[in-house]
Order: sequence, then C-alpha cells, then structure tokens
Amino acid sequence: MESACGGNSIPEIMVFRPTMEEFKDFNKYVLYMESQGAHKAGLAKVIPPAEWIPCRNGYTDIDITIPDPISQVVSGHQGVYRQYNVESKALTVAQFKKLANSARYRTPKHLDYEELERKYWKNITFPNPIYGADMSGSLTDTDQDIWNINRLGSILDYVGEDYGVKIEGVNTAYLYFGMWKTTFAWHTEDMDLYSINYLHFGAPKSWYAIPPQHGRRFEKLAQGLFPSSFDACPAFMRHKMYLVSPTILKKNYISFNKITQEAGEFMITFPYGYHSGYNHGFNCAESTNFATERWIEYGKRCLQCKCRDDGVRICMDTFVQRFQPEKYHLWKAGKDIAPHPEDDQSRMDKKRRPYMAASINDGGINQKPPEKNHRPTRGKWQVFSHNCICQMLDSNTYRKR
Ligand SMILES: [Zn+2]
Repeated sequence: MESACGGNSIPEIMVFRPTMEEFKDFNKYVLYMESQGAHKAGLAKVIPPAEWIPCRNGYTDIDITIPDPISQVVSGHQGVYRQYNVESKALTVAQFKKLANSARYRTPKHLDYEELERKYWKNITFPNPIYGADMSGSLTDTDQDIWNINRLGSILDYVGEDYGVKIEGVNTAYLYFGMWKTTFAWHTEDMDLYSINYLHFGAPKSWYAIPPQHGRRFEKLAQGLFPSSFDACPAFMRHKMYLVSPTILKKNYISFNKITQEAGEFMITFPYGYHSGYNHGFNCAESTNFATERWIEYGKRCLQCKCRDDGVRICMDTFVQRFQPEKYHLWKAGKDIAPHPEDDQSRMDKKRRPYMAASINDGGINQKPPEKNHRPTRGKWQVFSHNCICQMLDSNTYRKR
C-alpha cells in the first residue's frame, strides 16, 4: 500500500483481518504480513477474529495494584517537547480508574478523533497525567495458545533459552494502564526489535509511525531539535523522552502515518520503526517484543545508548550462530562489517557511521542481568524520583551551550 505524495510514495499502515485459521500461527502470520509489505510503514494493525477471546472472565473486577505510577511532566512549546516521568504513589486499578475519570483528568468533549488530537497537542503540558506503565504482568488467559503475548514462540526465545536471561517487558509481558493524554514518546524498540501491543479494554490509543526507510531522516531532525541531547548521547532517542508533533514533522518533510487502535485490536511495530502516541482515556494494554529472522541484521547494527546503564542489550551471538553460521567466525572477530539494513551502502561508504561497524563481541557479558527486587528502570519511560528530577533538569541545562 503506497500513496502518491508529490511524486514520492509513502508506505501506508496496513490493517489485517485474519480468519481464525490464518490467525492460529503467530510467526507464520507475521511473515505473511511482511509478504504484503506491512513492515514498510513500521506499524500495522491486526483485528483478531471474533472467536478469539483473550480473557474469558472479562475485565470487570481486576484485582491489580499499579506499584509505580508515573506523573508525566512535559516541557517545551510549539510542537517540540521533552517528557520527564516522576514517580507517584501506588494505586489499585479501581483507584486509578476513578482518578482517570475525575474532572481533572478525564477526556475532554470531542466530536471526532481529529478534534481530540488537536486538544492533545494544545494541552500537552497541563495537567500532568498519571500513567500505570511498564508493569510486569498479563491479563491474557494462561491457557490461550493463540497470540498469547506471554508466549508468542518467536526466535527471541533463544535469548532466554541460550543465555537464561529474562528481560522484563522484552521477552516477558508488560501491562499499561492509561488515562487521557498519557504519552509514549518517539522511539524504536530496544535492539530495534518488533513489538506487539494488544488493547484489552477502554478508550482508544492513537499512534504516529515513521516508515523505517525514513528513520534516519527523522533522527537528523531530532538531532536538530535537541542538539544538546544529541551531543550527550548519539542514541538519545533511546531515552524515550522526546515528543515531536505532526505539524513539526510536516514542516520538515518527514513522512509519517497515524492510526487509532480500538479496544480488542493488536498493533505490531516493525524493526527500526519509530513510533509515538497517546491514550484517549482510561484503558489497559499489554505488550512485549519479539523477533523474526529479518530482525537479526537490525539487531546486529542497531545504535545503542551507552550513557545509561539501564539500556537493554542483547548478545547477538546465538542468532548469528543459528541463522548466519557462515558469518559466525567473522562476527566473533569483529569483522562482519555491513551497513544497517535501512542505510544505503553507497552513501555509507563515504562516511561510515559508528553503528555500521561490526559489533564488539563480548561473549554475552553485555547481556543485561535479570531485574531483581527493585522496579525495572528500563521500559518505555525513563523514571526520575522527585529528588532527581531537579538534578536531571539541571544537568540538561548544564549541557546546553
Ligand atoms: Zn544515552
């Protein structure tokens, strides 16, 4: 699906409605979607067959506590913002729902999604919504064998099997309890993996997505909008705190698509597909990452954040060994050099970028250890405590030239 636009074509977000028979094999269906070009937009929607029921008992009385809700503080103006997440006190889902529907936080009146989108960008800095994000857990029936986010059976499972590593939210499921205006900042997935997101119930979730082939252009724009952040970390978009409005994207000729996910629908994000978005009101989503063989080159060449110790890094050895055995020795020697899949070889030859080089091999020691006791600091949002937000703001100011 490509639409003409000033002579250049932009891949469009595809929507799939599989039959139960087509839906049964998750990994096979993702390959089918890509055979239809779904990955080119970076984001696709899958509407499951009506017979597929993820949670037999429904969602009426969910007895869950959100241990670390975050208050989303947004600063900036005219379509360019930075988002800080401040820890807030634990809430039960019932308390969170009441708060989400209160006069202060509830969804404003609107006639359609376009009007709500205008209100989102108009009111993005006030008030600060509360998000129940990055919670380990699942609402899917454990005996559901089809499209169960907890066990999709993708090749990402080799990380768990070969290294015994559990990475919360990456190869396990995360839950998200949203309210009006809660936001996920622009990002690609950790290691530029795929992600899957199922909206269990509640208000819709609106998404913006950049086709992976335009990802570098978007990074160039972001670098210009947040120069001090780029200077401090070339992979600063991995900090998941930068918001850029569709108006700014249009002004800068960055191709993007938008789509709204309704309750009961899946969204799939594809390797190196930048995405961001917001919730329309009280809702609950479940998500995780997964991989296909096509991802391996993205994983091998992805740009990593080295300024934070909470970044997710996956050792690619097991994937090279299993799927590219002919390259394994070269890879281990640090000589398996090739451009990133979305970078043009001819352009790259002129000026090699750091992430083009073969990854430094570390025999798996760069693997992030499993989270213990404390709240996982990784996730879609970097979390600051009340004490450290001032320091963070200070250090960002300090970095400015
Ligand atoms: Zn960084």
